[in-house]
Amino acid sequence: MARINPNYSRLAAGYLFPEIARRTREFSAANPDAQILRLGIGDTTESITPTIIAGLHEGVDRQANVATYSGYGDSEGKGDLRESLAGWYDEIGAKIDPSEVFVSDGAKSDSSNIQSIFSTDSVVAVQDPAYPVYVDSNVVSGRTGDSVEGRYEGLVYMACTEENDFFPALPEGKVDLIYLCSPNNPTGAVATHEQLEGFVKYARENGAVILFDSAYAAFITDPTLPRSIYEIEGAEECAIEISSFSKWAGFTGVRLGWTIVPKALRCEDGEAGVLHGLWTRRQNTFFNGASCIVQAGGVAALSPEGRQEMQGLVTYYLENARIIRDALAELGITVFGGDNAPYVWLQAPGGMDSWGFFDKLLTECHVVGTPGAGFGPSGEGYFRLSAFGHRENVEEAVARIRTRLTL
Ligand code: PLP
Repeated sequence: MARINPNYSRLAAGYLFPEIARRTREFSAANPDAQILRLGIGDTTESITPTIIAGLHEGVDRQANVATYSGYGDSEGKGDLRESLAGWYDEIGAKIDPSEVFVSDGAKSDSSNIQSIFSTDSVVAVQDPAYPVYVDSNVVSGRTGDSVEGRYEGLVYMACTEENDFFPALPEGKVDLIYLCSPNNPTGAVATHEQLEGFVKYARENGAVILFDSAYAAFITDPTLPRSIYEIEGAEECAIEISSFSKWAGFTGVRLGWTIVPKALRCEDGEAGVLHGLWTRRQNTFFNGASCIVQAGGVAALSPEGRQEMQGLVTYYLENARIIRDALAELGITVFGGDNAPYVWLQAPGGMDSWGFFDKLLTECHVVGTPGAGFGPSGEGYFRLSAFGHRENVEEAVARIRTRLTL
């Protein structure tokens, strides 16, 4: 008789976004005339730029000609895209060999699959609050106990609070896998060189591996802030980096990402090369490569023209973030992030809890955001607004907040 994976029943009830959708649906049903504006989910809204579209078209056209048609490609990705990505790392001062770049269909799948090459009894540390995939993939894989009052037993929560500028202190005990995300979803905080150096030192001393999610690296405008963990000396021995074209190129629907597993990476029982070999094996066994059409788009995105156009998109969203942040600050609401990240993280006013503020914003302003509590226990009392949106919608949402939100 087939039996279900019992770890699924451990997943905390009601994933964040379905619960947001449910409450929004109920409100709409009761208030059919209300025009709801969504600053909730971090999904891009602006169209893909001409150079990248031309690259995608070229990828399609190659499939129409028997001389250029390609079937399955290498599951690690096409050579030209791996080289272009290694070239981008080189520009920011990180030495990555193309053979260390694994192209994928996005950072979400990689960030949930990466744990599979590590022992099931690994002790896992996550930033709190965090992008939920890191926690849920480890829950389903059996690395935690039950969720008790919003905290999974056996998981190490590294609190990110106003007191530590939303970047955690080093774990007190010994942990094996450390998930870090910078620029951070949901807090919008960006780790400094010094902060990352501390974690790299910890990981090297403890045989731990850092899983570094840089999906929002393109939003870093401050040149003093690192865009990759490999800007830190020694990180190639203790860190895997996972990243994406989703927010950079507007590829949330197109799907393209990458993971760097350096050959120098090692862990307690794996010499240099072993983890690189395991991820190669994992991808060859369970993945048949990202779409060759989409990879052609990725190569175009990394061309000088593509890069300039992507920068235009990033600048547009960052201006949205500024508009949101400035309006909230003028109202006396405490705001964080939004300067090197597409997320504004705010303290729910008047000591409200996250879901209380969600309901208030929805009922008074007809604006949907994301309750901080959905990202982990330290997110309680906070709220995330996303800067992804058409400018006119962002401006309208901000105008409603200014005029209708009772504080
Ligand atoms: N990592 C973080 C921190 C994210 O916020 C997201 C999406 O919102 C992803 C990864 C997913 O990226 P992708 O679209 O490449 O799967």
